[in-house]
Amino acid sequence: MSRSAHPAGPRHADVLPEGHYSAPPADLNALDHKVWAQTVGRNADGVATVGGVDVKTLAEEHGTPAYILDEADFRARARAWRSAFGADADVFYAGKAFLSRAVVRWLHEEGLNLDVCSGGELATALSAGMPAERVAFHGNNKSPDEIRRAVEAGVGRIVLDSFQEIVRVAHIAQSLGKRQKVQIRITVGVEAHTHEFIATAHEDQKFGIPLAGGQAAEAVRRALQLDGLELIGIHSHIGSQIFDMSGFEVAAHRVVGLLKDIRDEHGVELPEIDLGGGLGIAYTSDDDPREPHEIAKALTEIVSRECDAARLRTPRISVEPGRAIVGPTAFTLYEVGTVKPLEGLRTYVSVDGGMSDNIRTALYDAEYSVALVSRASSAEPMLARVVGKHCESGDIVVKDAFLPADLAPGDLIAVPATGAYCRSMASNYNHVLRPPVVAVKDGEARVIVRRETEEDLLRLDVG
Ligand SMILES: *Cc1c(COP(=O)(O)O)cnc(C)c1O
Repeated sequence: MSRSAHPAGPRHADVLPEGHYSAPPADLNALDHKVWAQTVGRNADGVATVGGVDVKTLAEEHGTPAYILDEADFRARARAWRSAFGADADVFYAGKAFLSRAVVRWLHEEGLNLDVCSGGELATALSAGMPAERVAFHGNNKSPDEIRRAVEAGVGRIVLDSFQEIVRVAHIAQSLGKRQKVQIRITVGVEAHTHEFIATAHEDQKFGIPLAGGQAAEAVRRALQLDGLELIGIHSHIGSQIFDMSGFEVAAHRVVGLLKDIRDEHGVELPEIDLGGGLGIAYTSDDDPREPHEIAKALTEIVSRECDAARLRTPRISVEPGRAIVGPTAFTLYEVGTVKPLEGLRTYVSVDGGMSDNIRTALYDAEYSVALVSRASSAEPMLARVVGKHCESGDIVVKDAFLPADLAPGDLIAVPATGAYCRSMASNYNHVLRPPVVAVKDGEARVIVRRETEEDLLRLDVG
């Protein structure tokens, strides 16, 4: 993004602060569908609507802040991934992005499988009727109790993450008289983030077993020997918010290389390969994510090309998108509380939530967009920073954004693309109550996760 001048507004000095922002958009009232959920628009009065319901009605009935989720968009994206990969592949939605029982039911109905990585996520999946065989259990430190529950429930696969876990899962499965389907998660020396990937020789992270130095091959050797385990494949997950497919290409090449070594050493062709998730979405209009059918085509081609070269049967592919399905489908609706212009700097717009409902800006320096949604405005653009109500100066929701200069307390603003890793990472910092998730579809709004109450807070405080 480039820094550029913006129209001189009454609140700004001549010198713009250092920052990372584009020119103001031509039309501040526009809601770009790259970043906004598919059914979002404005009605004749200029009020934003989603799923046929306007945001003022949503705020009156459900309060703010609130995550507003476009159910039709969620289902459409889930279906697009499902159909892009077809019958010869599996799509596992990564539950950690956002999980609730309604979401589990939608996924089930749309033919997707589900990744979980804790007992809590597993319990949510099972309680909403997801068949256990369509659940994959991940994590670098699953407790013996979590493993037992997963094996007992009959999860379709457990993704093994360490040498100790290979033995642990085998032992638990055997003690339950079961043979558990497993994959081994390996690290292939590729790390991808957004527009770049890095191929490294050594792995320096907590997940997976390194391919380097023959460790992954040794893990396979051990897993194949244990009666409690049925090794069905190799798993690799290279990063998050990735736009560049070349990282997956290198990863697929290395995973297939291991499958070939396994075939040569053990005479076994493992039937599955999982390439993980991490596909990027647009948080601002500058981002250009790939469509599911392009991703499916690219990944399938890479894997079959590599397998043909290695004279292997092409294994069944699975992928694990989280953000790419749920991220774009929701926005966070806030009410503006105070507007504080700082001469020569920018205008601080404080909302009734903050880092407790969106930690990504503080945690990852994530970029977001924002718009005034309770009315249209023809005022000049002003450079704004949207901040929360927490006792922390790093409590920033949108670092640099343009909002209309007539913005005032009581206005509703919304931050799009907050469906992933916002409610799921929400906290009670400052004893702030976590917002509800309201699903909207065909003119109706339905609470799928209710707002926390002070009673909820005090119930845990048993001192
Ligand atoms: C986090 C994670 C995903 C999902 O990542 P997204 O960026 O949301 O697509 C998939 N697989 C594994 C193993 C993960 O840890």
